[in-house]
Amino acid sequence: MSARPTVDQSALLPASLRDDFPILNGDVLAGHPLVFLDNAASTQRPRQVIDAISDVYQRDYANVHRGIHTLSERSTELYEQARENVRSFIGAKHAHEVIFTPGSTASINLVARSWGGENLRAGDEVLTTVMEHHSNLVPWQQIAAQTGAVLRHVPLTDDGRLDMGQFDALLCERTKLVAVASVSNTLGTINPIDEIARKAHAAGAVVLVDAAQSVPHMATDVQASDVDFLAFSGHKMLGPSGVGILYGKESHLDAMPPFLGGGSMINEVRLDSFTPAALPAKFEAGTPPIVPAIGMSAAVDYLNRVGLEAIHHHEQVLTQLAYDALAQIEGLRILGPAPEYRAGLISFAFERIHAHEFAQVLNDQFGVAVRAGHHCTQPLHALLGIPASTRASFYLYNRPEEIDRLIEGIAKVQSMFALKGRRRKRKQ
Ligand code: PMP
Repeated sequence: MSARPTVDQSALLPASLRDDFPILNGDVLAGHPLVFLDNAASTQRPRQVIDAISDVYQRDYANVHRGIHTLSERSTELYEQARENVRSFIGAKHAHEVIFTPGSTASINLVARSWGGENLRAGDEVLTTVMEHHSNLVPWQQIAAQTGAVLRHVPLTDDGRLDMGQFDALLCERTKLVAVASVSNTLGTINPIDEIARKAHAAGAVVLVDAAQSVPHMATDVQASDVDFLAFSGHKMLGPSGVGILYGKESHLDAMPPFLGGGSMINEVRLDSFTPAALPAKFEAGTPPIVPAIGMSAAVDYLNRVGLEAIHHHEQVLTQLAYDALAQIEGLRILGPAPEYRAGLISFAFERIHAHEFAQVLNDQFGVAVRAGHHCTQPLHALLGIPASTRASFYLYNRPEEIDRLIEGIAKVQSMFALKGRRRKRKQ
């Protein structure tokens, strides 16, 4: 393997960012410095987010929208400020188009059940893709089974991008909704969301974007992209778990029936009926994720300070480095397209070593945390002819030296497994 080219440090975010993340500087792996490359699953939190959460609990916490006492007023104000902060972060027109949910999965289920239940009829089509996370497949399968709608799936090109020729061919007057990820959590492919939205609208369909893997890493503008729904999760963007966002255009959200029933989502309740509240309360039944939402807002502030463009650029540099080095490793197959078409993650598979075993040794012996499995994209793995893969995913705190550790670790684990294989053969 040739030595890696030196990286122009000015192309990267400052390494001092790492000081903001206590867990990266803690002793997680008993002596090993932690190389955390599992950011597509969930990211770590900076002190600013941890402090924001702790501050609410220590100074401002009460249930929101209910009491008239001081703490309830304070927590309500913080919660609604968080909504406004997210609105501005994604370029939405109105704060009431931003619904707090438990996460991307919950957001997509809300649309499938509420919008789908109201608008899908037998024979209607929902167009999705073969690269979707289970969260953007199963809810559509469920509502299709209930309504008689049919699911269609856009296939891949040979290099792991969406086949837009096939998208054009599959999009038709029966298509009522297009549900697509902006970035594949397995292939890393960045999909052409603006083009998809334009074409879907021309065909009379609405567009839901699963943006779990793009909102944390690149600037989002829902009005410029003209998407109808957008789903993402706080925990993948330096925020707490247990909170996510459903963005929806006002006209759609207004016309949709409430999804969950209970407190807060009503205007008036009688013993045998209710009238729903206005947006956004209509879709926030029960006590919402108050503190997670406020923590998510602190994460938005942090990302804004660093800058989404700088983050994206930093990840591109790391991705190119990792891609070039991985491409030189014999017996390793990179899934998905060339670096120019992908975001900051790379999944790969080995000919003779299972991803789980591989990731375990990489963690235990080299302190490198990567993901192994099907990453909730079983149909995609089946299509690629492999049961599982290993995924390294990057974020603003990762450094080129950590890519070196990953590559060194892979080479060593590979030779350990090769040695084991030879021993096993000799014994037979
Ligand atoms: N969609 C994509 C593309 C994802 O990567 C994930 C998380 N792995 C999800 C949806 C689901 O997100 P959550 O578990 O936060 O609901």
